[in-house]
Amino acid sequence: MSTRAKQYSARVERRESLSPHLVRLTLAVDPAFESTGIPDEWVGLVVPGQFQSRYYTVRSYAAGELVLDVVVHEVGLVTEWVLREDCVGSSVTITEPKGSFDPPVDAGWLMLVGDLTALPAMARIAETTSLPTRIWAQVPDDLSSYLPAGSEVTWLESPRDGTSRLAEVVEGIEWPEGDGYFWMAGESAQMRAVRKHLMRERRLPAAAYDVMGYWRASTGRQPRAVDPGPIWRAGKAQGLSDEEIWAAYDAAREGATP
Ligand SMILES: Cc1cc2nc3c(=O)[nH]c(=O)nc-3n(C[C@H](O)[C@H](O)[C@H](O)COP(=O)(O)OP(=O)(O)OC[C@H]3O[C@@H](n4cnc5c(N)ncnc54)[C@H](O)[C@@H]3O)c2cc1C
Repeated sequence: MSTRAKQYSARVERRESLSPHLVRLTLAVDPAFESTGIPDEWVGLVVPGQFQSRYYTVRSYAAGELVLDVVVHEVGLVTEWVLREDCVGSSVTITEPKGSFDPPVDAGWLMLVGDLTALPAMARIAETTSLPTRIWAQVPDDLSSYLPAGSEVTWLESPRDGTSRLAEVVEGIEWPEGDGYFWMAGESAQMRAVRKHLMRERRLPAAAYDVMGYWRASTGRQPRAVDPGPIWRAGKAQGLSDEEIWAAYDAAREGATP
C-alpha cells in the first residue's frame, strides 16, 4: 500500500492578522482537493523554497478556498515565511487532508482542551457538533470571539515563559456525568502526560479520548517534521486505536531528533 499523500497546489490569496500570535491565510486550492469533513482535519503545508512540511488544521474549506490559521511563535520555518511581505501571492503545496476526531456514537458530551495551535480545530469541532461542549483554551491573546457562541469556554492564560501546563489543568478538571468524548491537542510532552493520566487515573477506554501532540518544544527550527498522514493510514490499516496511532507518531518524532 502506498503511504505517499496526494499533493495539491495552492496560492495564498489573503493574509489577515487575527491577534498578535495568530495569522489567517486564505488559499485558492486546486479544485481536485476534497475535504474529509472531519472537523479536526489537517493538511501538510510546504512553503516556497522548502521541501519540509508543517501541519495545519483546515479551519474551513468552501468554494475552492482553504483557510488555515497559523500560530506565529519565536522562530520557525512557516512562522518566518508567514510574516514575509511576499507570502501573499506565493505558490505553496498542500497535502491530502486527514482527520482524527471520532467520538463514540453514544457520546453525551464533548470536552476539548488545547493551546493556540489547537484553537482552529476546537472552533471547527464546536461549530459542527450537536453535543454539549466544554472547552479549555490556553492562549496568549484575547481571542474571545474566535470560538462559536454556545460552547462553555474556560480561557487560560499561556505561561509567559512559553511553556504549557495543560496537563495540570486536565488533572484538575471536574469530569461530567455519563459517557462522552475528550479531545485534546498541544505541546507533545504535555500530551504524553495527559494520555497517562486518562489511562491510569481516569481509566478511560481508548475510544473515549483523542490526545495529539501538535508541536514539540525544542530550540531552533524543528530538524524534521514527521508527517502524521502515513502513520495515520498505516495505523488504521493495522486496526490500531487512535491513541496507539498518536503514540506511534510521538515515537516517530522522537526518532527524528538528531
Ligand atoms: C495534526 C496537526 C494539526 C496542527 N494544526 C495547527 C494549526 O491549525 N495552527 C498552527 O499554528 N499549528 C498547528 N499545528 C502545529 C504546527 O504544525 C507546529 O507548531 C509547527 O512546528 C509550526 O511550524 P514552524 O515552521 O512555524 O516552526 P518549526 O520550524 O516547526 O519550529 C521552530 C521552533 O518553534 C518551536 N515551536 C513549534 N511550534 C510552536 C508553537 N506552536 N509554539 C511555540 N513554539 C513552537 C519548536 O519547538 C522549535 O523550537 C498542528 C500540528 C499537527 C500535527
